[in-house]
Formats: sequence, structure tokens, C-alpha cells
Amino acid sequence: MTSPDSTIHETRDKIRDAKAALREEYTAAHNHPWIVGYSGGKDSTLLLQFVVETLLELPKSERRRKVHVVSNDTLVESPLLADYVDMMLERLRRAAPSLELPLTVVKTTPPLEQTFWVNLIGRGYPAPNSNFRWCTDRMKIQPTSQYIKSLASEAGEVVLLLGVRRSESARRAASANKYDQTGSRLNPHNDLQGCLVFRPILEFTTEEVWQILLQRRPPWGGTHREIITLYRNAKGGECPLIIDKDQAPSCGTSSSRFGCWTCTVVEKDRSMEGFIDSGVEGAEKLEPLLEFRDWLAVVRNDTSRRMMERRNGVVSYMANGQPVPGPFTFAARQEILDKVLALQAVTGRQLISEDEVDLIKQIWAEDAAENGRRIVRLAISQDNS
Ligand code: SF4
Repeated sequence: MTSPDSTIHETRDKIRDAKAALREEYTAAHNHPWIVGYSGGKDSTLLLQFVVETLLELPKSERRRKVHVVSNDTLVESPLLADYVDMMLERLRRAAPSLELPLTVVKTTPPLEQTFWVNLIGRGYPAPNSNFRWCTDRMKIQPTSQYIKSLASEAGEVVLLLGVRRSESARRAASANKYDQTGSRLNPHNDLQGCLVFRPILEFTTEEVWQILLQRRPPWGGTHREIITLYRNAKGGECPLIIDKDQAPSCGTSSSRFGCWTCTVVEKDRSMEGFIDSGVEGAEKLEPLLEFRDWLAVVRNDTSRRMMERRNGVVSYMANGQPVPGPFTFAARQEILDKVLALQAVTGRQLISEDEVDLIKQIWAEDAAENGRRIVRLAISQDNS
């Protein structure tokens, strides 16, 4: 049996090794920027803690390589987590100059034409489920990938630091084992050219992550108690920063409970339920959001709210001869938009932007015109036959 003392020593050794690896990589003889993936979850918080500590332990003259702390915002993030991440990023942004850290704090977001609302209400995509999860790539993978790609093309190469841990899931362990075979600390990213992946906290256990966070203060201000409370209230896990299709399956599952508040891939949003049950300040405003999410999960399967034709005008059939439901009807899209605008008024929180509403209306007009053209074409072809 392992004694508490040996566990403490093991953790101490792991911290020393992780920080030594960070220092060695940071002071390597090249100038490739670092990109630290930060989701606001416990693992990426620990990673950021180690990165900042390592930089602070270096003489100022050696803090030459740029470090980009990148967080992705789907624009439909779980509200309490989104507020927490914004606060942390702001603290980091403000602290960087006085700490003399070469940090750039960045928030990536999906482009206007690919937001959740533009696809759902504008194009009528049914709310995502495990068979049609159109959102992860558009709202999470692509925005961060674009940032990494542009930095890699500018700098020649970038090092992406991720707070993944082997003990977190079987999938993570399998991907870690694959990388282990290369025997290298830095491994080329599966899809992003010029991007090397570095996973400094791979060997830490969940208990160690919490223990270290409890014992340390973030050098950029505040305490880690806030994240501990957040997890306690949410009763759960996190949706990590996803920059890889291999990791995408964990998005929108019960193991990733800090996902989008609109997520209908999960059967129940347990983190939101946890927040509401906890009664924390602001939790009462989550209740109407949760009701909307539950409603969306039901109406996505209501065939009377779905068109028969897909957006390209094609009707597909299932094996039983029934048509595969297409996008939401125009009436359903209008109904959803009305509900979101009403929710916005009730919660006093911006849920959809004016630019999104404008683009949605433009897409409706284009779709209606295209439908009209299709009907005319069909009538002409029937006349000619
Ligand atoms: S959390 Fe859910 S809605 Fe958000 S990107 Fe992941 S699967 Fe999609």
C-alpha cells in the first residue's frame, strides 16, 4: 500500500519533472511561439499555472518566446463557466505586463456564418444529436485551428501545449500511448501542419490536479477556489479545448458537462441542473435556458416542424420508405428565433447578436427564393412531360 508520504513525494517529483520539461522546451534554441490551450477547466488551469510559474522563474531576459493563451468561445457556452473564463482571461491580460510575461491572451469564436444560431435558425439545421453533430467542428475545432494555422504559417512552427492527462479517459490514454511510441516530447499534430503538441501534465492524476490547485495561487491574481466551487456546483467534468477530430467525440457527452448551454447531444444538461440546484447567485437565470434546451431536444424530432426536402432540394428516404426529415420549416425557425429573443429579454443576457439575426433573415430570404425557383422548375418540367 502506498503511504501518504510516498504519494506526496511522487506528486512533488511529477511537478518538478513537468516544470523542468517546460523550462527545457521554452529555452530551446529556437523562437517558435507557444500556444497554451485554456478551456477554464481544472486541467488547463493547472497547465497554465505551471507555464506561468516556469516563465516567472526564468530571468526576464530569457522570457523571449511568445506565449499565446487561447480559449475558444462557441458563443453558446454554459453561462457561469463563460463568465468565469472571461474573468480569468481578463486577469491574465491585465497581469501580464506587470509580471513582464510575453503573453498574448486570445479568445477564438466561430465566424458569424457558422455560429450555432445561424446554422440552427438560419439554415434550419436540426439541433445536434449523436448522429448529426454538426457543431463541434464548426464552433470549436475550426476557430482554434484557424488561429494555430495562421500563427504556424507566420512563425514556421508552433508548439501547442495541452492539459490532457492519461488518467482522464481511455481515449486519452490510447492517444497518449500512440504518441509515447515516438519517444519524443513534442509530436506533430494529426491535422495541423507546423504544429507540435506538448502535453506537460499527462501523468498527473485527478486527485493531484485538485491538490496542486488547492495549494497554489494563480500568479495572475485571484485564487483557484473559484474553479473548485464551480466544479462542485456543476457536479461534473468539463468540455476541454478541442482542436482535433480524435478528441471531438468527448464533446457533448456526459463526461463533458461544461459544454454549450444549447447542447442537445447530451440527454440532460447535468452541469446546468447542478448549478440550479446549488442555488448560487445567478443560477435562477439558468432555469429558462435549461427549459429551452429541453424543448429544443424535443422539437428537433417533431416531423411537423421539419421540411421534407434537404437544403439542396433532394428528398431522401429511410429503409421503411419514410422521408428522412430535412431542415426545420420556416415556421419552426421563426418560432425558435422568437423564443431565443424572449429568453434574452427574460434573462437580461445577450444570447444572440444583432448580426446573427440579420444574417438569419438574409438566409431565410435566400432559401425562400431558392424554394420558389425549385417550384417553378418543377412546374415547367411537369408541363413539358
Ligand atoms: S457541447 Fe454540444 S452543442 Fe457544443 S459543440 Fe459540443 S456537441 Fe456541439
